[in-house]
Order: sequence, then C-alpha cells, then structure tokens
Amino acid sequence: MEEIGHWINGKRVAGTSGRFTEVFNPATGEVQARVALASPAEMDHAVAEAAKAQVGWAATNPQRRARIIVAFAALINRDMDKLAQAVSREHGKTLPDARGDVQRGLEVVEVCMGAPAMLKGEMTDSAGPGIDLYSMRQPLGVVAAITPFNFPAMIPLWKMAPAIAAGNAMILKPSERTPSTSLLLAELFKEAGLPDGVLQVVNGDKTAVDGILDHPVIQAVGFVGSTPIAQYIYARAAANGKRAQCFGGAKNHMIIMPDADLDKAADALVGAGFGAAGERCMAISVAVPVGEKTADALIERLVPRIEKLKVGPYTAGDDVDFGPLVTKAAQDRVLGLIGSGVDQGAKLVVDGRGLKIQGYENGFFVGPTLFDRVTPEMEIYKQEIFGPVLSTVRSGNYEEALKLVMDNEYGNGTAIFTADGDTARDFASRVNVGMVGINFPIPVPLAYYSFGGWKKSAFGDLNQYGPDAFRFYTKTKTVTARWFSGIKEGASLNFKALD
Ligand code: NAD
Repeated sequence: MEEIGHWINGKRVAGTSGRFTEVFNPATGEVQARVALASPAEMDHAVAEAAKAQVGWAATNPQRRARIIVAFAALINRDMDKLAQAVSREHGKTLPDARGDVQRGLEVVEVCMGAPAMLKGEMTDSAGPGIDLYSMRQPLGVVAAITPFNFPAMIPLWKMAPAIAAGNAMILKPSERTPSTSLLLAELFKEAGLPDGVLQVVNGDKTAVDGILDHPVIQAVGFVGSTPIAQYIYARAAANGKRAQCFGGAKNHMIIMPDADLDKAADALVGAGFGAAGERCMAISVAVPVGEKTADALIERLVPRIEKLKVGPYTAGDDVDFGPLVTKAAQDRVLGLIGSGVDQGAKLVVDGRGLKIQGYENGFFVGPTLFDRVTPEMEIYKQEIFGPVLSTVRSGNYEEALKLVMDNEYGNGTAIFTADGDTARDFASRVNVGMVGINFPIPVPLAYYSFGGWKKSAFGDLNQYGPDAFRFYTKTKTVTARWFSGIKEGASLNFKALD
C-alpha cells in the first residue's frame, strides 16, 4: 500500500513515529494509502531546519524571491491536470472542480509575483530637522499553516505563496484526509528554485498541530478548518504569544427577492448548494425566498434541476456533477442530519438518502437533498451540514430575511438575488457577513483582494491572501534617522515634537 510521508529539506521522507492514518478513495470506500502522523520530535526537526533555511531566504532580495514564484506559477500550470487528479483522488470532487481548486490557488501565487511591491515600506523625507522617517516590512521567521481537507490545492497555496514570498519559511500541516497534493506542490516549488527547508510539509494529526502551537520558534499560525478547531487553535496560539488567524465554518444564506430572476437564482443555488457535494465553506446551504409566491416558484424551479444532477466518481467523466463525501463518518453524519430534518418537521422535497451507484456501492455518496419549510430551531439549520443538502427558510419580507442572516452565528459568505439596486445596496451595507454576493452566489474575492468571514467564521486579525496576507506575514519596523550637518541643537530631556 502507498505510504505518504513528509517533505523535509527538499525531499520526501518517511515518517518515523510509527503512527499512521488511512487515506480513503471516497468513491469506492477502499483504503488507498496510509499517511504518516508526525511525532513531536519530527516536528521539532522540521522547524529547526526551516529556521536555518529562513535566514538565507530572508536575505535573498525580493525580486529574486519573486522570480521563483513566477517559475512556481508556470509549473503549476504545466502540471494542472496531475494536481487536479491528486485532488480528486483523495477528496472525490470532479476533475473540472479540482482544476478550479488548483486555479483559485494559482491566482494567489500569481499575485505573489508582485510581492516586492507589496513589501515596500513608507518614507517621510525631512520629518524634522535633518530627520527622515521610514518603515520597512520584515518577515516573521518560521510560520505555520494548518489546512482543511476540502481544498487540498487552493488553501495550501493561499498560505504558502504569500508567506514564502515575504521571506518566511513555512511549516505546512495539510489535512490527513487529503495529504498528497501538498507534497506535489512542494516538489514543484523546489523545481522552481525554492531553497531546501523553506517549505516543510509535515503530515499529522492533533499531535503535529499541538507541536506547532507550542513551538517557541514558530511566530505565526494560519488555520483554516471547522469552527471548534479554529477556536482551539486561536486560543492556544495566542496564549503562546503567536500571531494567529483562524478561519472557521459557515452557514451561508442566499436571499431571493420577489423581483429576482428566479431561473438564474435557481441555477445559482444548484451550483452553490451542491457543487463539490456541498463541501465548501462558501457553499450556499440556506435559501431564503421572500414571500410565499417567491418560495413556491423557486421550489418549482429547483426540483427538476436537482433531480437532473448526476452523482458519481470523478473517473466517470466530466458530466458528473458532484462526487462522494470525503469519509464514511462524513456520510453518516450528513445522513443523520437529513433524518433529523424529517423528524423535526421540515418538508423533505428531494431525498438524497439511499443513493446507490452501480460498482461503487461502498462509496461515501449522498444524493442531492432539498428541504422546504425549515425553521431556525431545527438541527439542519443550526449545524454546518457540509454535504449536498439545501434548506429553504421561507421569509415574510426583506427585513425578516436580513435579520435571519444577521442572527446566524456564522458570517462567512452571503448573497442576495434581486433586480433592485437599492435593496442590494442596503443588504451589502448592513449585513454582518464578511463576503457578500449580489446576484452572485459564491462571492470568493479575487486574489488581489483578501478573503475572510466575520462572527464565528474567523478568529484573529486580518484576512487571508491579497494585501492582508503580506501584513499578516510581516512585521513593521519604523526607523527615525537624523543626520547632523547644519544642526546646532544640544541635549534635551523633553519628549517633544520633531519640528
Ligand atoms: P477540521 O477542523 O476537522 O480540520 C482542519 C485541520 O485541523 C486539519 O489539518 C486537521 O488535521 C486539524 N485538526 C482536526 N482536529 C484537530 C484537533 N482536535 N486538534 C488540532 N488539530 C485538529 O476541518 P475539515 O473537516 O478538514 O474542513 C472542513 C471545515 O473547514 C468546514 O467547517 C469548513 O467550513 C471549513 N473551511 C473554512 C474555510 C474558510 O476560509 N473559512 C475554508 C475551507 C474550509
């Protein structure tokens, strides 16, 4: 059986802890590999080597570092299909969707080609007599990223590209469910010219994560995953004096106004609700039609679209709409939540339970599921389902719909479908959610903006990628310099203005 190890000092190495976990083929349910789980000693070794490599990397001028980023982007493009295969093989998502996973990570790498410009400081000439004031952005040193299973290429790239372009060394701890893509990315980064040790991929579970959180050399931790783990990581990293940004789970609502183009809204809901089997932190999991007539007309349009969806393994061709869930535990959890929705009185309009695909009977599949008349007290509303389940919460008017979104504990993404500019503008301005779509269901900002939710979807400061990433992965130093020619002033003990 394939054994997946770590990437240390520019090469693949086997794990030495003796601990492993299984990596599944989600379409067949079979174990296809086992991945090593790092021990504290392996983490210490990876960090010590990264610290050594970081010194030379930080001293490499930003333009030369950027050239390696340019080469890295070209190699990702060259190996797009290979990377997408690796994503699909462990995650189960379709190949076109896996290419999107790589592409949205690549776009962040492309923005990092401009790192020298992002890293510039500021300067004030003659801030006082003979005095110049300037600031510089310096790398933090060794930083770490802990990433989730659902975007095996995109999120590691969101983390590694800006951190490394800014002159840091990175310890990446990918999800143990989808570990292979990060190792391929590390190989490409080396081929692009990255010095050994600047990127270390350490696979593992809580032991490896705690090794990161407690390590005195690691200066900052970027996390993406579920909310309880985000809270845990934020608290422990902060208690240890580290900079931390921890992005958590989501429950994204889409409001559909009576004046919306309902066909477009239904198309958007099907894509955003069921794409990647709903395993996206920006998936729309709650549709909020305003008014009974809108709700009836929306459901009428959703049902035939949902019933047409083709669920299957990624190997079955590009007409498969979505694949299996990542593990048996995820499948059982989602099936259990669908059952709870029925028990608690929601109207099950399309039932995705009991889906069996010939030849893939043991795969972790759940069919597309649509609920109507869901209420905020139900478990299917309260929990992030992270499966192909769309809940409809009917709303009497716009204010009621807005309040529903505002009262939800998560605040990652949200959308409104409407033809009215005033309503759209009011929604964008008032809603307490980090990323807003107007007639756009999954408003993931482009790579030259930054990505981040509000409320229980994010802990810590600054968003990920884009300009915020360069702020997160650097510290600012401000220098006040005085040169004495022509200055007669003697000693002064007073704290005073420079002029
Ligand atoms: P997860 O929280 O289970 O795991 C994320 C990472 O944390 C993994 O690397 C895992 O090994 C580690 N981890 C898991 N349990 C741990 C523990 N007890 N102690 C220390 N580390 C632990 O998340 P997941 O299931 O891999 O990913 C899905 C979740 O991620 C969803 O909630 C989704 O909404 C969220 N997500 C959020 C964003 C965002 O940007 N806000 C993006 C993608 C995914």
